Amino acid sequence: MSKAKESSSVAVMEQNGVCVEVAVPLPVEGPFTYLLDDDQVSKAKVGDRVRVPFRNREMVGFLVAFRETPPEQKLKKVIEVIDEKPVLTERMLRLTEWISKYYFSSWGEAIETAVPKWVKQGKRCREKEIAPILSAPPVPEKLILNEEQENAYEVIRRELEAKNPHPILLYGVTGSGKTELYIRAIKEVLAREKGAIVLVPEIALTEQIRRFFFHHFGDQLEILHSKLSDGERFSAWKRIEAGTKRVLLGPRSAVFAPMPNLGLILIDEEHEGSYKQDNAPRYHARDVALWVAKEEKALLILGSATPSLEATYLAEKGIFKRVDLTKRVENKQMPQITLVDLKNEGDIQKRSVILSRLLLREIEANLRDREGTILLLNRRGFSTQIHCPACGQVVTCGSCEVSLTFHQEEDVLLCHYCNFKCPVPDVCRKCSKPLLRFSGFGTEKVESELARVFPHARVARVDTDSIRRKGSHERIIQDFRDKKIDILVGTQMIAKGFDFPHVTLVGVILADVGLMLPDFRSEERTFQLLTQVAGRAGRGEKTGRVIIQTYSPDHPSVECAKDHDYWRFYHAEIQKRAEHHYPPTQNLINILVRSRDEKKAYLFAREMRDSLKKHLRKEDSLELIGPAPLPFYKLRGHYRWHVLIKARELTSAQGLIREMIKGLKRRSGVMFQIDVNPLNIL
Ligand code: ADP
Ligand code: ZN
Repeated sequence: MSKAKESSSVAVMEQNGVCVEVAVPLPVEGPFTYLLDDDQVSKAKVGDRVRVPFRNREMVGFLVAFRETPPEQKLKKVIEVIDEKPVLTERMLRLTEWISKYYFSSWGEAIETAVPKWVKQGKRCREKEIAPILSAPPVPEKLILNEEQENAYEVIRRELEAKNPHPILLYGVTGSGKTELYIRAIKEVLAREKGAIVLVPEIALTEQIRRFFFHHFGDQLEILHSKLSDGERFSAWKRIEAGTKRVLLGPRSAVFAPMPNLGLILIDEEHEGSYKQDNAPRYHARDVALWVAKEEKALLILGSATPSLEATYLAEKGIFKRVDLTKRVENKQMPQITLVDLKNEGDIQKRSVILSRLLLREIEANLRDREGTILLLNRRGFSTQIHCPACGQVVTCGSCEVSLTFHQEEDVLLCHYCNFKCPVPDVCRKCSKPLLRFSGFGTEKVESELARVFPHARVARVDTDSIRRKGSHERIIQDFRDKKIDILVGTQMIAKGFDFPHVTLVGVILADVGLMLPDFRSEERTFQLLTQVAGRAGRGEKTGRVIIQTYSPDHPSVECAKDHDYWRFYHAEIQKRAEHHYPPTQNLINILVRSRDEKKAYLFAREMRDSLKKHLRKEDSLELIGPAPLPFYKLRGHYRWHVLIKARELTSAQGLIREMIKGLKRRSGVMFQIDVNPLNIL
């Protein structure tokens, strides 16, 4: 309380001091101008953290520039200059400024995203000598590259030698040996006394990949992952900065690490959604990596068996150099994929309502032969819908207007959007009749179905519910690898990246799950998921079998995945995107407005649209769409409207939005967010 008073009383009229621009980590325009007193002037440097009064409180901001004292303006004073040595480099300042402009966040928000927590909290962290976490590695076996790998490696090596390396898209089918190329590229970089940053999706940061990298790079390796404490993160950051760790493995945010003399940024599984941040700034690591790589004259390699449409489109335009690995290593075959049309499974007397006869037979064979089986269903819980057969009422979440999912293990109904939980009701809320009906199924139901049909099989489930317990995910994966588990059931978490040589059967319980979402990327995501999960089969000696159960066997996402035909999918999909002016053929900006008050949300969205329309110039060639309600109209108690902008050139759209924001009067109880090239519009 007294603090707030103090800081509001520091406003002064003085005109002859030194002024600084301070970026604050709030969703507000800025930076803001403050005055330094004489003692502070000698200490303050660009890149320092400063404590400043802001809207009746104190906060830590970032000194981003010195400036001329503006005339006749009432300025507040900097309370304290925190740092002896700047925490932000000049490059970091330029990068975060670029991010804030590109993605419409404040500069301060962009800085906070890019730096570790201790910087945000304004703490002075002491640098102490930290013992290496890992001991020396055993020497890994040396593989002989096949011809395709050899060619790809040659391209990589040439780009590593180039003064201004051309980014590379490494398109390699599942099991084609991309990782081996990554390892060699990094070694090449180390030999040139440069450093490498390797980004992997957060979920892939398992013991497996950590151990694998450690085998190769030993105590050159630094790993950032979500389970590190602030102190550990600080030490890791410092070791990288000091140049003692030359290989960094981490998720999206590792792209910001202060690696000196950077030679390579590698993005594995570049199509993964976790590379985009879903709060401000809504940046994509691919874009940031492009910026950093260009700036540092480092090589950027994007790797995937199912490259995003963005990456392939950029490759077609010549912005990326594409290198293909079209075959699996050691002449291993791609798995045999069979579709089961669930429309034809219906009436026949069956042992299971979830598993088709073919899939049952194949699972049986795998259990007999002691081979591994993976079953994918990208939907968690037991039953996905509960309704009253008497009046038809569906049990929905009060704040979200979506149906609640029954979770058997916890014995609750759960909202997958806001985590609202309630006990399972005995009677219908509307008509009070008992006996509610449960329908639709998730991973829990598959698990229990397997226990019923194959009582002797050892089954484990991997989804966000089952891995909540610390370490359980890694334990399950290890047990599966050690053949202590016969069947792994799970959501998309089990579909990606894993190399289990004993898996010969992959079953997709319902391929249509993702296709039901009304989003322009649903088909791409479904194709990727099916291809990725199929890619887990047959990576060892024996050829794999994949069985995809679906109601839409003719759907391009399903058909192309079945035929292992990335290119047919890409060409059909990119044409559709071009027709509808969707990314990557055009830029899309989603302006989302939400409020607990339905009318307020709509009116504010309309106001924004009108203002955009007013500022719109013909030559901008932008399309303005909306306001329209979002597919999930009510989430977490908020009604949601949006306005879309489609733009050939992002810069003109950015300019327009900036104009609109300038004139905008904020309304209480109404929030908005801007998402540049969103990953979904739901
Ligand atoms: P991808 O990432 O392309 O799906 P991986 O890199 O996981 O494939 O490689 C699959 C397996 O093939 C790994 O066990 C790897 O050690 C092995 N491998 C890679 N290159 C070769 C090679 N040239 N000869 C033999 N085995 C290889
Ligand atoms: Zn909810």
